[in-house]
Amino acid sequence: MTRPHIFLSVPHMCGLEEGYVREAFATNWLSTIGPNLEAFESEFSAHLASEGTEHTEGTALSCVALASGTAALHLALKLVGVGPGDEVVCSDLTFAATVNPVVYLGATPVFIDSDRESWNMDPALLASFLDARASSGKLPRAVVIVHLYGQSADLDPILAACKKHGVALIEDAAEAVGTLYKGRRVGTFGDISIFSFNGNKLITTTGGGMLVSRRKDWVDKARYWSTQAREPGLAYHHVDIGYKYRLSNVLAGIGRGQLTAIDERVRQRRAVAFRYRDAFLAVPGIALMPQAAFGLHTNWLSCFQVDSVRFGASRDQLIAALTEENIESRPVWKPMHMQPVFASAEHVRGERSVAADLFANGICLPSSSSLTEAEQTRVIDVVRARAVSSAHRREEQRGQKRAG
Ligand SMILES: *Cc1c(COP(=O)(O)O)cnc(C)c1O
Repeated sequence: MTRPHIFLSVPHMCGLEEGYVREAFATNWLSTIGPNLEAFESEFSAHLASEGTEHTEGTALSCVALASGTAALHLALKLVGVGPGDEVVCSDLTFAATVNPVVYLGATPVFIDSDRESWNMDPALLASFLDARASSGKLPRAVVIVHLYGQSADLDPILAACKKHGVALIEDAAEAVGTLYKGRRVGTFGDISIFSFNGNKLITTTGGGMLVSRRKDWVDKARYWSTQAREPGLAYHHVDIGYKYRLSNVLAGIGRGQLTAIDERVRQRRAVAFRYRDAFLAVPGIALMPQAAFGLHTNWLSCFQVDSVRFGASRDQLIAALTEENIESRPVWKPMHMQPVFASAEHVRGERSVAADLFANGICLPSSSSLTEAEQTRVIDVVRARAVSSAHRREEQRGQKRAG
């Protein structure tokens, strides 16, 4: 009998969501207007301000709830003026949704490699790239950094490099609800930030996103674009091209419930990652993604590097062993420079691509905040068994060599 499937990352409701959804039904706010939307936006803004923003420039954070993180990124890029002929600098190691909106706008992505400390954009490579572009006379329109798997990028040197050249910084915090950088929530540093509430993320509205900025005029513009760019007044009068990107008031209700559980979800995701880490202490060749000292890594996904020689099996062999036991696991994101669709894009790296290394050996293990200890033990047992059986094989091979 096959054992129940264990997914990589599943939605985790706290119980309050249905109340807000029922309220939307009871009051017939069943479209892209309504009280849940306004409350979700102001509650999310309060959440972002709840850690470490005491000393930041007074201006409040404005938020607009959208249909997806991808939609939020599309509008963020448009707000900073990205258009045909522009370059936009992006993290190389990310999900394609970071880059697709750059192409929607007719701009050209440039990919910057990761550092080993955080797996995020290498600040030194970014700084020297911007210096080089400045001296050749055409700077990129924007930099999009990603906070990968719930770990902050090293923001201070990235902000300094962007400021030095007057280049807009957009934080793709789709994977980083709850993440801190030097005690402050990510998504409060860049000119604009975006979050995702897709079903696999730390909190979810089934699908949804948020655009955040201290520039209220920008956020208002994004809200206007997201509802087909309708001008005020009863007549359908248009002076601009719009999009249908607004979140539904029903789904915003799910989001309001989910918001109340962020800190608990962060604790749970971290507990899952650290339980794997501790269980693998005696297993050679498998190591948790680094936890950079400058931040709080939510470990949205529990990511590991597999050293195939020491572990005794490759990353793909480990994925196959887990699949056999009905357990979902995935490679870490395939870097953008390795994607056929972006083959012609410029790729900035040192001697060798860190992102390519991290991809070759990286695995994401089941990471749901609702993962039970019994389920996690099943995962741990498969990983251990794969390592032990390969250790046995090595012993046998040595034995055979000695015998022969
Ligand atoms: C999930 C994700 C997105 C896109 O968010 P959606 O809500 O699915 O559109 C963008 N960037 C990164 C890094 C993501 O992981």
